[in-house]
Amino acid sequence: AVVGVVRETNDGERRVALVPKVVGKLAGKGVQVVVEAGAGAGALIPDDAYVEAGAQIGDPWSADVVAKVAAPDAGELARMRPEQTLIGFLNPRGNADGIKEIAAAGVQAFAVEAIPRISRAQAMDALSSQGNVSGYKAVIVAASESTRFFPMLTTAAGTVKPATVLVLGVGVAGLQALATAKRLGGRPTGYDVRPEVADQVRSVGAQWLDLGIDAAGEGGYARELTEAERDQQQQALEDAIKGFDVVITTALVPGRPAPRLVTAAAVEGMRPGSVIVDLAGETGGNCELTEPGQTVVKHGVTIVSPLNLPATMPEHASELYSRNVQELLELMLDDDARLAPDFSDEILAAACVTRTEEDH
Ligand code: NAD
Repeated sequence: AVVGVVRETNDGERRVALVPKVVGKLAGKGVQVVVEAGAGAGALIPDDAYVEAGAQIGDPWSADVVAKVAAPDAGELARMRPEQTLIGFLNPRGNADGIKEIAAAGVQAFAVEAIPRISRAQAMDALSSQGNVSGYKAVIVAASESTRFFPMLTTAAGTVKPATVLVLGVGVAGLQALATAKRLGGRPTGYDVRPEVADQVRSVGAQWLDLGIDAAGEGGYARELTEAERDQQQQALEDAIKGFDVVITTALVPGRPAPRLVTAAAVEGMRPGSVIVDLAGETGGNCELTEPGQTVVKHGVTIVSPLNLPATMPEHASELYSRNVQELLELMLDDDARLAPDFSDEILAAACVTRTEEDH
C-alpha cells in the first residue's frame, strides 16, 4: 500500500500524522510513504528527514491511504477518490455531516476517536495519547497564568503554601493533570462521576473528592447526569471549589455538550488570582463563564479555554499520534503490505465510520 502524509491546514495545527521514525518502520514492512512538502514543518521535521527515512516527497492525496490529524475540509476531500482510505480525528459524534460527505465521496474512513477503549487497542488509542498531552499542558498553562507558586517554598523571606489543584473529570487528560500538578509540587484533588477512578486518582498521589454521584456509562465513559443530579453536583462543587487555587476541568460525555460543573456563582466564590483551565471548550465548556478559545478574567479569576493543546506540543504529540496511526495501519495490512482490512476485527469495525449497510 501507499500511504500519504498531508500537510495540515487547520488554524494553529502543527502536528503531523506520521513522523520519520514511523515512516522508516512502515517502509521496512514494504509500505511506500508519500509526504506532502512541508508536512512536518509545524513539528520541526524537515522534508529531508522523511526522505532519509525512506519516504518520497510528492502528492499525498493520490495514495491508497491518506493519513491526517484533523478531518479534511471540503477542498481536501475534493482531492480524494472512491476506494481511498482515510485515517484521522474525524469527530464522528460531533460532525455527522462531515462523515456523510466523506461517505458520499466513496472514501473508507477510520476515525481514531471511534477506536474501542480495549486493551488490545491501547497502542492505537489516539484519544489517550493526545489526552496525555492536553492534561500535562493544562497544568503548565495554569501555572503560567497563576499569581501563586505551585510548590511549597521555605525561604528566608518566608514560607509559601503549596497550590491546591482540583481536577474535575479524571479520564486520561485528568489523570495526567493530577500527576503533573503533583510533580510541580502542588496538592492535587481529583473528582469524577465514575467511582472506579478513585483508585487511579490515589495512585498518582492525589486526593479523591467524593460527591456521591455514580454516573458510569457504557464503554468506560460517563453518562449524562439527570437534572436533579446535575443540580446536586453544581451545588456541592460550588462549596468544594472555594478552597482551590487552580481548577482544571476535563469532563466530557461522548456526543453530548460538555457537562456544566462550575457555575458563575462557584467562580465568584473563588479567591481572586485563582485560575481555571477548561479543556472542554470545544463542546461548550465545563465552566459557565468559559469563552471557548479565549482567556477571560471574571470576578478576579482567570479562565482559560485552550482549544487544541496537543497542537502546542507538536513534536511529542506527533510522535505519539504517529505511533497510534502506525498500529492502526498495520492492523489493516496483509503480509504483503497490501491494504486488507478485516471487518470481523472489532477494532476496525468500530473505527470505520463510512461503511454502508451492504458492507456489514
Ligand atoms: P472522556 O474524555 O470521555 O471524559 C473525561 C472524564 O470526564 C471521564 O473520566 C468522565 O467520567 C468524566 N465526566 C463526564 N461527565 C462528568 C461529570 N458530570 N462530572 C464529573 N466528571 C465527568 O474520558 P477519556 O479520557 O476518554 O476516558 C474514558 C475511559 O476510557 C476511561 O475509563 C479510561 O480509563 C478509559 N480508557 C481505556 C483505555 C483502554 O483500556 N484501552 C484506554 C484509554 C482510556
